[in-house]
Amino acid sequence: MNEQEYITVEEALTAVLDTVPVLPAETVSLMDGLGRILAQDVIAQDSLPPFSNSSMDGYAIRAADVAMASAESPVSLRVIGDIAAGRVLETAVTPGTTARIMTGASLPDGADAVIPVEDTNEAWRDRDRPLPELVKMYSAVKMGDYVRHPGEDIVRGTAVLQSGHQLRPQEIGVLASLGVSQLQVVRRPRIGILATGDELIGVDEPLRAGKIRNSNGFTQMAQVIALGAVPVSLGVAADTEEDVRKKLQAGLDAGVDLFVSSAGVSLGAYDVVKAVLVEGGEMAFWRVRMRPGKPLAHGRYHGVPYLGLPGNPVSAMVSFERFARAAILKMGGHRRLERPLIPVILQDEIESDGRESYIRAVVERTADGYIGTTTGGQGSHMMTSLVKANALLIVPEGVKTVCAGETMQAWMLDWPEYVF
Ligand code: AMP
Ligand code: MG
Repeated sequence: MNEQEYITVEEALTAVLDTVPVLPAETVSLMDGLGRILAQDVIAQDSLPPFSNSSMDGYAIRAADVAMASAESPVSLRVIGDIAAGRVLETAVTPGTTARIMTGASLPDGADAVIPVEDTNEAWRDRDRPLPELVKMYSAVKMGDYVRHPGEDIVRGTAVLQSGHQLRPQEIGVLASLGVSQLQVVRRPRIGILATGDELIGVDEPLRAGKIRNSNGFTQMAQVIALGAVPVSLGVAADTEEDVRKKLQAGLDAGVDLFVSSAGVSLGAYDVVKAVLVEGGEMAFWRVRMRPGKPLAHGRYHGVPYLGLPGNPVSAMVSFERFARAAILKMGGHRRLERPLIPVILQDEIESDGRESYIRAVVERTADGYIGTTTGGQGSHMMTSLVKANALLIVPEGVKTVCAGETMQAWMLDWPEYVF
């Protein structure tokens, strides 16, 4: 691809994704697996539940004994034991007998059902009462009622979770119940973040003539963390090839999996990032038919995939959203690389220049469906337009005007409660 060529967002994304691999697996302890992608199948070594147990506090019985029981003509059974959760009753329940049983306690031999305590004359009595000798059963139950059977949830030997599955709290719980304390997950991507520009000063420094604080570096580190990846701050490079090379070397030394830099990729006199990339690796410099965020440098620096984002803070963030995000998710083993897109009804008019445009907007839910309203000033230096936004409305390539009332696709940046 030569310098003059304009490519589509889709073409750029495909090329970026082609340069990054899915990272290898590492072994982590269970809690460190949260949010990560499994790199192994998990075969259940136990069945769950592991044994027949009661789903209610009540009495373990033989269903045949209470077949005729009702409130008007209760059946009395002799109590032979008490089974707390965690205990096992050594004696069997025989015809005419019962054992008190708590939720989760092991069903004793001989019993085939449980009568909830509410259906006996023991309901609502003192917690500390001694075990009664006789209990009156007020209702009939069928065999198996209120019994949770072994393997009902998970059968030993089955593949419970497959490689590629993302671990949420519920997966962590299932793994804990199966005794999995160590597991293989895809390694977290390490992303080297470099800001470039002579005008940049640190976040702690007072403003002075001609200078602005480096915000991109922080936005991008935050974006990286939000994706479950690890940012490696490479600081700020001056607009010299020498300083850019020096800062990138620190990233190589730290073993980053991807470089993300901002600025220095336009056509300005001091845009040195491209030169450094050309000299130190392979570079494709593109003008992407996208708004905001036309320039995008991409390639490898000493073998490490590289994304050079534009400098304007909104362009940088949106380009990260569109390209770096998918690349980082892919490296981390994710299969779904895109944000959810939902159709919304536009409330105001949008003008575009024919490039695929990402318009900052607020999406809300109304009785008539989702509506989207642009956040006003769309200058690519105006970060507050992104602070107000929860979505980017996509104007497709080739479209120059979208009128109020038309339906657009919204790329949801987040899903605040008021959208649901
Ligand atoms: P450039 O791509 O170097 O021409 O930069 C484009 C615009 O982005 C300029 O107004 C820069 O001052 C601004 N810019 C570049 N880097 C940053 C940064 N790290 N934080 C905030 N603004 C930046
Ligand atoms: Mg610059």
